[in-house]
Amino acid sequence: MVIAGPCAIEDENQLLSISNTLKRLGIRYLRGGAFKHRTSPYSFAGLGKEGIYLIKKIADSNGQLVVSEITSESQIDLFAENVDIIQIGARSMRNYELIRLVAKLRKVTLLKRSMDSTLRDWLFAGEHFLYHGGQDLIFCERGVTSFDPAFRNMIDITSTCFIKEFLRVPVVLDPSHGTGFPPLFLSLIKAFLAIGIDGYMLEVHNVPEKALCDSDQALSMEEFTNIFHKITNHDTVNSFHE
Ligand code: PEP
Ligand code: MN
Repeated sequence: MVIAGPCAIEDENQLLSISNTLKRLGIRYLRGGAFKHRTSPYSFAGLGKEGIYLIKKIADSNGQLVVSEITSESQIDLFAENVDIIQIGARSMRNYELIRLVAKLRKVTLLKRSMDSTLRDWLFAGEHFLYHGGQDLIFCERGVTSFDPAFRNMIDITSTCFIKEFLRVPVVLDPSHGTGFPPLFLSLIKAFLAIGIDGYMLEVHNVPEKALCDSDQALSMEEFTNIFHKITNHDTVNSFHE
């Protein structure tokens, strides 16, 4: 499973250009945030429901599926109608009421790990989802806060290894938020493929330096294409890419 797209949906030109490039590569899962949790209230917080309508329209026109983050219970109906894979973000991993409502939608759900969660906290957040009737759950490792400021977060391969060895539920790696440092994405994806992950998610942008959100970690379409080809061409054992 390869999920790619911008951190935030910005406008039609941006998303259509990204979606078209991804389509040419055969990527089926188009991500894009419409409701962004930003540290500063002055930062771009997404297009809101207009963003969801836009990603749905573009994904439909290119035969792709929509992956987007829900941030509030008030968005349940909007997501039920327009989003194929619902992302529960790191900041919402402990919002059990939101998890309960999303579980009831019976949609594939990507549960990101909170930056301050233990493996146990993360697994129990998943347990809340299953307890309330959710069925299709994908864990997304996106790193945890570290004592070391060298990278944005610290990716925890041990926890993913544990999940794959003992629980055998799907795990997707997000090295974009996990490191914030594009030169490491390829190696990290390869390392995680070696322990059996089911896919990866990368943030991409048609003009990375102008991205309104997470521009430092956004890959250009050329950089993404390069990584994608290197991984896909080397992955002769597990054909994870549809
Ligand atoms: C994102 O995927 O854009 C995002 C905000 O991720 P996280 O919740 O992991 O910080
Ligand atoms: Mn982001």
